Amino acid sequence: MKYRTILLFGAPGSGKGTQGRILGSIPNFFHCACGDVFRNLDIESEIGKVFVEYSSRGELVPDEQTVELWSKSIALSTQTGRFRPEQDTLVLDGIPRNVHQAEMLSDVLDVVTIFYLRCTNLDNLVQRMQRRALKENRLDDASLDVIRKRLRTYEKETKPVLRYYGQRLVHRIDADQAPAKVLFDILRHVIKV
Ligand code: ADP
Repeated sequence: MKYRTILLFGAPGSGKGTQGRILGSIPNFFHCACGDVFRNLDIESEIGKVFVEYSSRGELVPDEQTVELWSKSIALSTQTGRFRPEQDTLVLDGIPRNVHQAEMLSDVLDVVTIFYLRCTNLDNLVQRMQRRALKENRLDDASLDVIRKRLRTYEKETKPVLRYYGQRLVHRIDADQAPAKVLFDILRHVIKV
């Protein structure tokens, strides 16, 4: 069985987590942010150390470890009844993050829509990340160099995922708007799918 999936797509700082959390609070939607799965790890564990090593450089964690960890997390959410795949739509944020991950997940994800949160104002993105660094204690948001590296990683490795799934599924959302307006634009489409 494949998971019926909505993908939240966009640069770091584009607001995927904010919107994903709101969507996940609606009955029959389950939000899963891959970055949160990583941040919830014990940083003394093997995989926790790998996460700190890569994320603090602004790089992606290797695909095999990422997909394995994500699969375990989804299995746990299913076992505990938080995610009920027969009735829930999975709202994914932060995975797949490159074409290889999309291929690895093609057997389990039925992607029905992609919301592409577009930020044309780069300063906006950087400012959001810097604010988040203080509020959420995120190492990868703390330095401007790492932020820039993450934006480059996004352009080079993550952007091609859009083409992998094809334009038919992609809804562009203006993510420079206030969060409530972004939500409004997303919900307008969600009620149709
Ligand atoms: P952001 O979207 O702001 O970059 P995330 O919370 O999604 O932040 O991710 C933080 C870090 O976690 C990434 O920079 C990366 O190192 C790691 N990470 C998250 N998701 C993945 C993934 N699917 N594949 C590889 N690494 C990931």
